[in-house]
Amino acid sequence: MDPQNPMPLKTHSVSSTDSPEFTHLTSSLTRSTIIALDAEWKPLRSHHPTYPTVSLLQLACQLGDDSVVVFLLDLASVPLPSIWVLLRDAFVNPDVLKLGFRFKQDLVYLSSTFSSQGCDPGFDRVEPYLDITSIYQHLQQKQHGKKTPKETKSLATICKELLGISLSKELQCSDWSCRPLTEEQKTYAAMDAHCLLEIFNVFRVKVIKEGILVHSPSEPHPAIVNLGLKQVLEKLDICNKVVRMKFCEAVDMVRATDVSNDITTVEGTAIMTQHRNTQPMDEFLLKVVSRYGEKILLGESDKKAKASKRKGKRRSSVGFKQGHYFDDWKGPAPWDLTVGGDGHPKFLCDVMVEGLAKHLRCVGIDAASPYSKKPESRELIDHANREKRVLLTRDAKLLRYEYLIKNQIYRVKSLLKNEQLLEVIETFQLKVSEDQLMSRCTRCNGRFIQKPLTTEEAVEAAKGFQRIPNCLFDKNLQFWQCMDCNQLYWEGTQYHNAVQKFIDVCKLNE
Ligand SMILES: [Zn+2]
Repeated sequence: MDPQNPMPLKTHSVSSTDSPEFTHLTSSLTRSTIIALDAEWKPLRSHHPTYPTVSLLQLACQLGDDSVVVFLLDLASVPLPSIWVLLRDAFVNPDVLKLGFRFKQDLVYLSSTFSSQGCDPGFDRVEPYLDITSIYQHLQQKQHGKKTPKETKSLATICKELLGISLSKELQCSDWSCRPLTEEQKTYAAMDAHCLLEIFNVFRVKVIKEGILVHSPSEPHPAIVNLGLKQVLEKLDICNKVVRMKFCEAVDMVRATDVSNDITTVEGTAIMTQHRNTQPMDEFLLKVVSRYGEKILLGESDKKAKASKRKGKRRSSVGFKQGHYFDDWKGPAPWDLTVGGDGHPKFLCDVMVEGLAKHLRCVGIDAASPYSKKPESRELIDHANREKRVLLTRDAKLLRYEYLIKNQIYRVKSLLKNEQLLEVIETFQLKVSEDQLMSRCTRCNGRFIQKPLTTEEAVEAAKGFQRIPNCLFDKNLQFWQCMDCNQLYWEGTQYHNAVQKFIDVCKLNE
């Protein structure tokens, strides 16, 4: 795929049940092997005690012949009772694998949207299901030994890494309830669902190449198997072979090896088949589902919107007195999903809390610095606004601008770096895990390359700007390089001391 010019998608907007597009949708649902799901809603700006109303559901259908068609189902126009059963059946159809990116949230909102229009009890499950975050985890685990932090990457980051395409996030918070949708909105919406299929295809290729799902792992292409995924995709000749591999060939490959004992049928398949007009899954998908399949189940607690997502209860591990730091922080942070964020905490640290920025990076939290050494207040505000960051400062004067970015400025009270770190973790209820420690460049806030470098590679990469001490040469260390500033890091004594320090500071071992 050309990253600059992604392939044109066959996209159909469905805005009434009395239209050829709707007929096309219903027939495609029965011919799909995989359906990638995504939903859009108008973000609730205020601290609303209800769930947002979903106004668009995107379904990217991969059909039996491997062609893909994307439907933009306009929930603001189509009478919901007329599509409720159709969707509910698709969500639970055991013949069709559903893909999503943290789709549980979407399902909660969808369910509430449908319930409010008489389709009670909305939706309560999606099964069989695979989440892109899990797929990404599987890909990472196989790729290098270092554990990657769970669920910390946005879909945009995953797309960039695995597919080399940039998803524009600008439109995510646009008004999805306005009609007609702009062409940009339609393209964005279609891409967001379609890229899930593309990511699954990367996974599919990997699984097949490595023989993960067969008895005796055959290694047809050892040279490729040992490459990191990114390299596989970057090498054009290989790329053409693997990425364009047809599904039927993939199935043949699995069939060609001994699979007789290993197929687990999805629960209830035999009974259900008579009532459905879809084709049962082929062997490959069945195996993927039986090995990696998940489901989304909504409980009673998911059906009621809470006034606040923040819990009143603090983790006992952090020794702050309750209420103390909550006085000037009332609403959800800009990354909160309920206000249209992507769920990833992001900060902008004023120059006065530079040390805090480094500490936050050390525990894996996205903490940017201002663009200039002496930024104007307005610059800081604009920066925070643009990147949906919370501005951390010790400068009380900056709080005068609070009206410009509600809930996006926080004045740090503690004076010492370690305490400031704890204060921020606690105030914003951030989850820090050991996996996340040292997962970010302390110098520039960048992320690290996907694969460690050997000493030789590191020496080569460091040429001209960073000296690697000679004493490291015979230690067989792994080196990590920042993708943004190229700084090299290695897992030496300093690294281990730092990890230990942050385990202590964040009280991760208690
Ligand atoms: Zn860096």
